[in-house]
Amino acid sequence: MPVIDQRRVLKTEIPGPRSCALHDRKAAAVAAGVGSTLAVYVSEAGGGILRDVDGNQLIDFGSGIAVTSIGNAAPRVVEAVRDQVAAFTHSCFLVNPYESYVAVAELLNELTPGSGPKRTALFNSGAEAVENAVKIARSATGRQAVIAFEHAYHGRTNLTMALTAKNLPYKEGFGPFAGEVYRMPMAYPYRWPTGPDNCASEAFAQFTSQVHTQVGETNCAAVVVEPIQGEGGFIVPAPGFLANVAEWCRDHGIVFIADEVQTGFCRTGDWFASEHEGIQPDLIATAKGIAGGLPLAAVTGRADLMDSVHAGGLGGTFGGNPLSCVAAIASIETMREQDLAGRARSIEAVMRRRLEAMAATFDTIGDIRGRGAMMAIELVEAGTHNPAAERATRVSAACHQQGLMTLTAGTYGNVLRFLPPLVIGDDLLNEGLDILAAALAVQS
Ligand SMILES: *Cc1c(COP(=O)(O)O)cnc(C)c1O
Repeated sequence: MPVIDQRRVLKTEIPGPRSCALHDRKAAAVAAGVGSTLAVYVSEAGGGILRDVDGNQLIDFGSGIAVTSIGNAAPRVVEAVRDQVAAFTHSCFLVNPYESYVAVAELLNELTPGSGPKRTALFNSGAEAVENAVKIARSATGRQAVIAFEHAYHGRTNLTMALTAKNLPYKEGFGPFAGEVYRMPMAYPYRWPTGPDNCASEAFAQFTSQVHTQVGETNCAAVVVEPIQGEGGFIVPAPGFLANVAEWCRDHGIVFIADEVQTGFCRTGDWFASEHEGIQPDLIATAKGIAGGLPLAAVTGRADLMDSVHAGGLGGTFGGNPLSCVAAIASIETMREQDLAGRARSIEAVMRRRLEAMAATFDTIGDIRGRGAMMAIELVEAGTHNPAAERATRVSAACHQQGLMTLTAGTYGNVLRFLPPLVIGDDLLNEGLDILAAALAVQS
């Protein structure tokens, strides 16, 4: 059980005076490029609640960007990390290995889709995992080109900035970017020019034709894709599109890399979102929800690809740190024991019903989409598909004022996305949705 009282509490304005004082210190000490969505300084968190330094308690619809799926400071994680920190904190797996790293690899090989032999390598961040997946694909195929999609987000390192679609804030002024990255259309049903019914087939036809004419299949090492696009606005590709791309990859000897950094670990109602699409990626990149909030990332995939890299070609000083590894083992046990994939599906059922009722009332909700506890609404000018980014910002700010932590997303900045911890109670979930409905009523 979470130790924090599972109640929303508003004691001061949001943010309160102590948070504001800390934020002044931040402005004087922290690089301005490092932003914060809401300047509420956290003192404790657990279950579906974030407590701040002024004693306010916010309902958490963000999970630190889909990280604390099993809840903040989850009991098993706390215990495992406490024991590990007292035993040893670091040896560097590349220097002196330890069991927990191997155990995490075994668990990931078992849990990820695909029945053949698999291997895993551990890293520190999602971007690092995606970048290493590309390294592995290039090394295994002897080819260079990498295909990414419109609306994609893969991280902030040089190669992953190149893979990421959106300029501001991720890329502006940071070029030149890594070469041999090509961007193809995404099957985005809500914005497909000829409508959602034609989306999967037309997008796939454009994809194959453009790769053929602009890149050449035999030059392609990998296709990198998020099974549900995260920062791009929780875009669920039109049904069948990903399966077609995966099959096409197989036909051309191209490595299919699923970036499950945001969708993985029960978030979408399965262990991995690829399962719902019926695809078995060659390589899967994971991070965010993997270790209950400790920094860890992984590439898991076909043994023949993973083992094709020369000895010493993969790794890093901190990758697979022992604290993160024991936290991942504890997190996976928690997800299994509490059936958090099932819990994500029931969160979807509650959210869908409530969001559909809101869409019936407010014609500024253009689209409701997502899967499991990864749901979003796309806000538009009434009666059109024109993105209403300012309204999304205002609705989100109004939710914050009432003690509901929400995040925005989307290429056009007009998507409100909801990522509650999977352990949130139905009462807090519904209270959060009440706050959202009230904010939409005022800001619509
Ligand atoms: C967050 C994210 C990343 C980058 O992960 P970091 O840990 O921030 O480097 C990559 N891909 C997807 C889909 C993400 O959501």
